[in-house]
Amino acid sequence: MTPDELKRLIRTVPDFPEPGIQFRDITTLIGHGAGLKASVANLAERVAASGAEAIAGMEARGFIFGAAVAVQLGLGFIPVRKPGKLPIETIGIDYALEYGTDRLEIDPSAIAKGQNVTIVDDLIATGGTALAAAELLRQAGATVSHAMFVIDLPELGGADRLRASQIAVEALMAFEGA
Ligand code: AMP
Repeated sequence: MTPDELKRLIRTVPDFPEPGIQFRDITTLIGHGAGLKASVANLAERVAASGAEAIAGMEARGFIFGAAVAVQLGLGFIPVRKPGKLPIETIGIDYALEYGTDRLEIDPSAIAKGQNVTIVDDLIATGGTALAAAELLRQAGATVSHAMFVIDLPELGGADRLRASQIAVEALMAFEGA
């Protein structure tokens, strides 16, 4: 499938979860077998080129794409979780979202020192989530130099923020506006 065909599988829902937000909904993409397969294959190709030794994905939509890419490449998957979900001692970080605030936690023992970890998520907006994940992974000893997304919202500046943190950013498609 072409990038344009994949883009047409994204549903845009205006004013969700707050007025003024154009919610780019991947439900319609992942519900389309060929669309899901092509998205994962495209991401996996980019992740393989990044030299990744493991994939980290953020709860919850990053689990869908991140785990699929990890399986395709035969790599391990590191879940970057919402608070209180992991049953062991975690390290965590609070961060600001495009709408609201949140916290992420990881199991620091899931990462080998110097391991090259590539981040995979559905969408980058302000970049707050991906930067927080990168910071946590780095605290645990990972080298984080690449992040892959299905969707970029370039006007929100997230990709630029990641690049300023020495993280190369790629996305399968971009949407104008917030
Ligand atoms: P951010 O931290 O601002 O880059 O936001 C990234 C996370 O919030 C992504 O993992 C998305 O799941 C979600 N998100 C933020 N903005 C949107 C949007 N306009 N449409 C859909 N999801 C969004």
